[in-house]
Amino acid sequence: MLFEQVATGGCQSYLVGCRETCAAAVIDAEASQVDRYLALAARDGLRIRYVIDTHTHADHFSASGQLARQAQAPVVMHRASTAPMVDMHVDDGDMVVVGKLRLQVLHTPGHTRDSMCLVVEDRVFTGDTLLIGGTGRTDLPTGDSGALYDSLWGKLLKLDPALLVYPAHDYHGRGHSTLGEELASNPRLQVKDRAEFIATMRNLNLGMPQHITEALRTNLSGGKTVAQMLAEAAAMVPFMSLAQLKERIEKGDPDLVVLDVRERDAYQGGHIPGAQLLPRGQLELRVNQDLPDPTRRIVTCCEFGRISTLAAATLRQMGFQRAVALDGGMQSWREMGYPTKAGAEP
Ligand code: FE
Repeated sequence: MLFEQVATGGCQSYLVGCRETCAAAVIDAEASQVDRYLALAARDGLRIRYVIDTHTHADHFSASGQLARQAQAPVVMHRASTAPMVDMHVDDGDMVVVGKLRLQVLHTPGHTRDSMCLVVEDRVFTGDTLLIGGTGRTDLPTGDSGALYDSLWGKLLKLDPALLVYPAHDYHGRGHSTLGEELASNPRLQVKDRAEFIATMRNLNLGMPQHITEALRTNLSGGKTVAQMLAEAAAMVPFMSLAQLKERIEKGDPDLVVLDVRERDAYQGGHIPGAQLLPRGQLELRVNQDLPDPTRRIVTCCEFGRISTLAAATLRQMGFQRAVALDGGMQSWREMGYPTKAGAEP
């Protein structure tokens, strides 16, 4: 078995491949690592056949939809998952066949209703059901500490104690452990019964994870994250540096239109001299009257350089083929000590 563990902050994801048949699966793909999974697979001559999520993540962004599209492979999740991008729902006892590898599905609800573990050869991918020195939390949507107790003691912990544990999270850089080690030393597993486990989980008082709203929205719906939309916009527009823009303004480039896409108040508080105001929210509605010449070189700018990227991408889609975004925003422009002008333009 070919095996790669890819860590992103505390998130752990995995590529497992069959040496003989060159088939592979990615488990718990993370949004910033899509190119890495594809590159790792290519390096080892593997074709990604399945993209598997062990559960609906609430605390980070799944890349499964995106990776599946690029690898032309189905997304696999437990049948309790409501995410619409799932192509293949699996159930307890099913096997996902990856070449000669057999990934055995264990439905282990508790952290979420759709949580599952995957056993393959000498190891088990535990998702957030069992972590090294911990368990997944049960206080987020569809979590249930009683169900987690049943999944752990009724199923997962009954397996061979020598099985290697590869979780979906590990914040201490340990990478893996074994079921036996967890049984012996994982503090959450040192309880005398179900009631004590439920009480322990109830008393954890964990803070809400960052990005929970956006993670649930995008992971449940297959929608896009804000970072993804920005990255897609950035991939289709060229940029102009702050220094280049300053130079062109000083030279009096007659071809140039600096388009400030912030709101009026921000614009009047200080803008690039000569910049034209067209707030992002009104772009599509006012573009025909405000930007009559589609052949001009339009440079969009905003406060931090993000909204201007979206605006430039929109302009390009509408036929302004020379629209570019400023590489940086007004904040950087001011930090460079470049000139600004307050109030309305004449
Ligand atoms: Fe999780």
